[in-house]
Amino acid sequence: MAADSSAPSGEPIRTVLAVFAHPDDESLMCGGTLARLADAGVRVVLMCGTRGERGSISDPSLVTADDLGAVRVRELQEAADVLGIAEVIALDHRDGDLRWNDVDEFHADIVGAIARLQPDAVITFAENGLYWHLDHIGVHERTYTAVKSLGAGAPPLYYVTMPKGIIRAVVESAHAKGGAPSDSSFWGLEPDAFGETEMEECLAIDVRPWIARKLTALRCHRTQMGSHNPIAWIGEEEARRLLGIEYFRRAPLESAKPDSMLEQLGEPVISQ
Ligand SMILES: [Zn+2]
Repeated sequence: MAADSSAPSGEPIRTVLAVFAHPDDESLMCGGTLARLADAGVRVVLMCGTRGERGSISDPSLVTADDLGAVRVRELQEAADVLGIAEVIALDHRDGDLRWNDVDEFHADIVGAIARLQPDAVITFAENGLYWHLDHIGVHERTYTAVKSLGAGAPPLYYVTMPKGIIRAVVESAHAKGGAPSDSSFWGLEPDAFGETEMEECLAIDVRPWIARKLTALRCHRTQMGSHNPIAWIGEEEARRLLGIEYFRRAPLESAKPDSMLEQLGEPVISQ
């Protein structure tokens, strides 16, 4: 749209589109980077494939199951406001079925958003969906396919990921304060199910100065942030240490577009 194509300075507006599955994915995976991009003048747009209406509820007094989707979209908008996200595209594909349902429709949603926004970069989950969550893998597949369908005119695509061990450290930190369940799970899963061991070829983006906003955004998702959630227990200093670097790997797709803002903000991960 012409009205959106340039800033008052005459510089073209740069746009980053992030595509995730549920409210809270954006804040956990790359809330710091989205806030850092927004502060740098980038128009950040978040597409969320579902309303998260079939997830568990942290505190039944907050919401009834019938209202959960609407409440989670409101929480998502609050988190987006904290992060400086310019636009939230809250889709209503069925939570839990993203890998199989509405395949053509979700593909069209992503292709349509790219056509309208002309982003300089697109961000989504990596192949493993952080912990093999099928909705996350569905988002990865739809986004990869949508970007690939645009050929060399496509924006660069980045997969956001994290090193294995981060979630275990978050769980242990919560336990040290007497918080979260007495077993060692995170959302009922073994903590080492989260993340990847091979971080070579990743870009590491330092978001430590944005960590307070990342934590605040995470905590906007109140229906997911009960005392069972280890993230509810970590303080700002621990968050800075454990969640203060965010990791992105560029997808193996050709793109004639120049390197995006993510390459400018990030440092290559040096293998140990
Ligand atoms: Zn999710």
